Amino acid sequence: MEMPFGSISRRDFMKYCATTAAVLGLSELEFAAKVSEVLAAAPGKPPVIWLEGQDCAGCSISFAGSLYPSIASMLLQRVSLRYHEALMAASGHVAEAALHETIKKGGFVLCVEGSIPTADDRFCMVGGRPFRETLEEAAAKAAAIIAVGACATYGGIPAAGPTGAVGVNKIITDKPIINISTCPVHTEHLIGTILYYLTTGKVPPLDKQGRPKMYFGELIHDNCRRRSYFDNDTFLSDWNDPNQKNWCLYEKGCKGPDTYSDCPVRRWNDGLNFCIDCGAGCMGCAEPEFYAGMTPLYTAEGERSRNIMARKKAGLIPPLKEEEA
Ligand code: SF4
Repeated sequence: MEMPFGSISRRDFMKYCATTAAVLGLSELEFAAKVSEVLAAAPGKPPVIWLEGQDCAGCSISFAGSLYPSIASMLLQRVSLRYHEALMAASGHVAEAALHETIKKGGFVLCVEGSIPTADDRFCMVGGRPFRETLEEAAAKAAAIIAVGACATYGGIPAAGPTGAVGVNKIITDKPIINISTCPVHTEHLIGTILYYLTTGKVPPLDKQGRPKMYFGELIHDNCRRRSYFDNDTFLSDWNDPNQKNWCLYEKGCKGPDTYSDCPVRRWNDGLNFCIDCGAGCMGCAEPEFYAGMTPLYTAEGERSRNIMARKKAGLIPPLKEEEA
């Protein structure tokens, strides 16, 4: 069977697609075949426009750093990335012309990275015009819209500043927006969602925050390997004490009990690690309240952390049963 992503091995592709395949009720093999079939039948490469508003380009970097499938395979072989300020070779008028030509034709997947200012359009001007206008124009002709990362989904770090930053779904209200939160975006969440759309022509089932349930259906806290320490009130207080190294990071500001994402299972950097397993508490970057509502990030002195402890003491975060732990 021809592999859907060319140079990507069967094993890596299967691993990559496992969650998406499960959601579709297909075996990984069936899903791979389906992707092949859909992409082979497509009259051309599915067009993608990637816009950047108020952002740090961290999600672009996360995407470009993807190991499986490599950025080259994804971009050059199977989708046509018509516009991306950081990755495209063209610049200036040529780049703008490519953007407007693609928008005019319609039917593309629109990925948006970064938030949109509402206090004043001048906080974010791209190509001499307000970013908001370009977003509205592109969204009107897009086949699917994906908000990529914390800033584009719910405002993220810029929402804590003076620009009145909001996510895409506060500007575009007449179409479904797929929110792939976290800061930065997890490449597998993004590519899996694009594959879901390409193979089904539909938006994947979303939770009430607009996130694909297949990636954001469970609390980080419920899959955390430090959970038994939380349940037994054993909290790390000193990062330099080797005896405490596996203890729960609640006192170091962990917001895992309030954060939905599959980070503990999927992990990051090709499954190498994730925040909690390297000793840093979860910052809650997958949630709409990130960043301002999750601070302080490294202590339990904030309202959010106090609320977590109050719920624990009230029995609202019960210990995991032995078989679940
Ligand atoms: Fe893990 Fe954080 Fe929950 Fe502790 S509070 S068990 S470190 S998710």
